[in-house]
Order: sequence, then C-alpha cells, then structure tokens
Amino acid sequence: MKSTQKSGINTLCTHAGELTDTRFHGAVAPLYMATSYAFEGVEEKRYPRYFNTPNQQALSQKIAALEHTEAALLFGSGMAAVSTALLAFLEKGDHVLLQKTLYGGTFNLVTEEFEKFGIDYSFTEELTEKAFTDKIKANTKVVYIETPSNPLLTVTDIEMVAKLCKKHRLISMIDNTFASPVNQNPINFGIDIVIHSATKYMGGHSDILAGAVAASSEHIDRIFQKGKNLGGNLSEYTVWLLERSIKTMGLRVKAQNRTAKKLAKYLSKHTQVKKVYYPGLKSHPDYETAKNQMKGFGGMLSFELTDTVNARQFLKNLKLIKPSMSLAGVESTILLPSETSHALLSEEERLKQGISNNLLRFSVGIEEKLDLIADIEQALEACKQN
Ligand code: PLP
Repeated sequence: MKSTQKSGINTLCTHAGELTDTRFHGAVAPLYMATSYAFEGVEEKRYPRYFNTPNQQALSQKIAALEHTEAALLFGSGMAAVSTALLAFLEKGDHVLLQKTLYGGTFNLVTEEFEKFGIDYSFTEELTEKAFTDKIKANTKVVYIETPSNPLLTVTDIEMVAKLCKKHRLISMIDNTFASPVNQNPINFGIDIVIHSATKYMGGHSDILAGAVAASSEHIDRIFQKGKNLGGNLSEYTVWLLERSIKTMGLRVKAQNRTAKKLAKYLSKHTQVKKVYYPGLKSHPDYETAKNQMKGFGGMLSFELTDTVNARQFLKNLKLIKPSMSLAGVESTILLPSETSHALLSEEERLKQGISNNLLRFSVGIEEKLDLIADIEQALEACKQN
C-alpha cells in the first residue's frame, strides 16, 4: 500500500508498506532470507547490511508511513538506532546537547564513548526553552530529547525544541519509544529525526530486539551511509516478525492508553499511594504540553507507595503483574527504578531526581482493568497484614 497519511492508524499498521506474495497469493508477507542477490542490470546492489532487502524495505516503508516521514531504517536494537543516528551527525570537535532524563543506555553511550570520538556533550536537567538555549555552544550540532521520559513521565515540549533547533540550525532528534507512533508523531512538530526502540511498543510481545529511525530521505541517506559502516541492521527473520507485530500496534497501544489512564485515576485515589505520575492526569505538571502533542497518553505510569508500605513486599505479593525490566509488552510488568534502572545512582542523587525507594514503574499491558486492579488490591492488602 502506498503510504498515505490520510489512512487511519490501524489501516497503516496493517497495510502500509505491504510486501505481497504475488506468486502464491498468501495472506502474509513472504520472507526473503537471501543474503545474496543477482545484480546484473540492477542499479541498487541488495545486501542485508545495506538495509535494502525486500523485507527491510517494506517494513521501513510501514514505519515511515506511521511516523509521517519520507523514509526509515531498521536496526538490530534500539541502541544501534540511537548510536548510528547520533554518529551520523556528530564528528570530532562537535557538541551534542541532551536532556538529562534519558534511557540509561543512551546516557551510557554518550558518557562512556563520546569522549573517545572527540565529541563533546552536555545535559540539561531543566526542560525549558531557556535551559536548552543556555547550553547551546558554537560547536553544537545536535539536540536530543526523549519524551515522555523514564520513570517520572516528564514531557518535553517537542515543538519548542524543534523551533529552537531550526533557529540555531541544529539537527533535532527524539527518542519516541515511550509514546510510540500511535500516540505521538514528532515530525508534525518539526523534529528532524525520530528514533525507536522497536523492542518496545512496535514489537509489543517481549520477543523481539529491534530499533528504527524515521526521517526525511536526505537525513535517512546520511544515517544509511554511517549505518552500513557500523553494521547494525536487523536480521530478516526479525524484520518479518516485527512487521507481523506492528499490525496490531494500534489496537494494543490504544487499549494500553485506556487502561493506563483508568489505573492512574484509581491509584491517585488509593490511600496507600502517595503520588501518581501519568501525563494524562490533570494533576501532572506537563499535562497541557502532553495534551497538545500526544494523541494518547501512553501505557506507562509510575506511582509512589506511602511510607507504610514496603514496595519490595508489594512486588512479591503481586500475582498477575510481573516484576520485570521489560516494558510495552501485552503483559503488565512492574519494577522498582531504585533497584534497577537507577540503581547505580547514589540515594541522594536519586532522591534529588524524585526517584524514591517506594517508586514503582508500571508498564500497563492489555489485560482487563478489573483484573489488574484486583491484583494491586490484594497485594496492597497483604502488605497491611505483614
Ligand atoms: N530508548 C528507550 C526509551 C528504551 O526504553 C530503550 C530500552 O529499554 C532503548 C532506547 C534501547 O533499546 P534496545 O534495548 O532495543 O536497544
């Protein structure tokens, strides 16, 4: 199907970039596992690491249609997508400005590797226009944001960052993983490059590791040039599986949006819950920005239990909701950021960032809302008895 922004999200998820089985007319896309293709008389040499096999091209078109961009590329992981996109636009002597609340792997990539490449970096804790502007240097080339962020679901104003980048002639990049293209299309607000860990909502079943980058053809060509040297393409079989998963992404994510919002409201009223962080709650400090740039508020929420509840005990008491590092799957998962994603920070630094020992990050799945509430209720009730 030709990519058209007029089609609804579920139609795009199902049909955009469709690879049809013209020989046997099967209902699903054929899988071309070949690493070698005849090139006589063909302009473009096909090779998996060149991102141009039939399955990669078809799925790239689907992702481009979903993100309203001209083109896209697939990678072997979200981090392969992040590193290739950043390194495509940064050279020795350049500077990149990033928001501080980033996925840990991205933070590690920048702080552990960039110095070796002679790339300078800074972070901004505040997400205001002034905070970003103050940190732009003469050699800044890229501004990188992630919204909503992990684990406090802060929301960065995408349009503000995009405009600022245009004014200073900088490349703007966003990690759109937490929102997914169902809830947020940063290109519509002027962002140049959209990155996904496709391991999360695109895959959706906790069985695929993948990444994607979507942008204009010109920007994608530059990322392609770097990507073929770095060699981080996605394997054909995983491309095929990912295409199958994305077909249901609209349905899954919309269900996750609905349940997460209801759970956020339920948790806000609970006497054993101190605070709920969900951008779809009017009490969230970034609610207005979220409402302006998101079509749905997402399936991720965090909440802090009162000091009377032992969060570790609460996790142990849960029966349906699984403690797990993973997120965005059809199954609900939960974790304590203080013991996982933010365990390496000192307690003082963690508390400064608002991450207490009783804060839980909840990835809402597609189970029935009432079953999830029943599980939380019984786990909290059992905590009272201990
Ligand atoms: N970006 C975000 C927001 C993530 O949550 C993750 C992984 O958890 C990544 C990027 C990295 O993705 P991957 O694990 O697929 O390399």
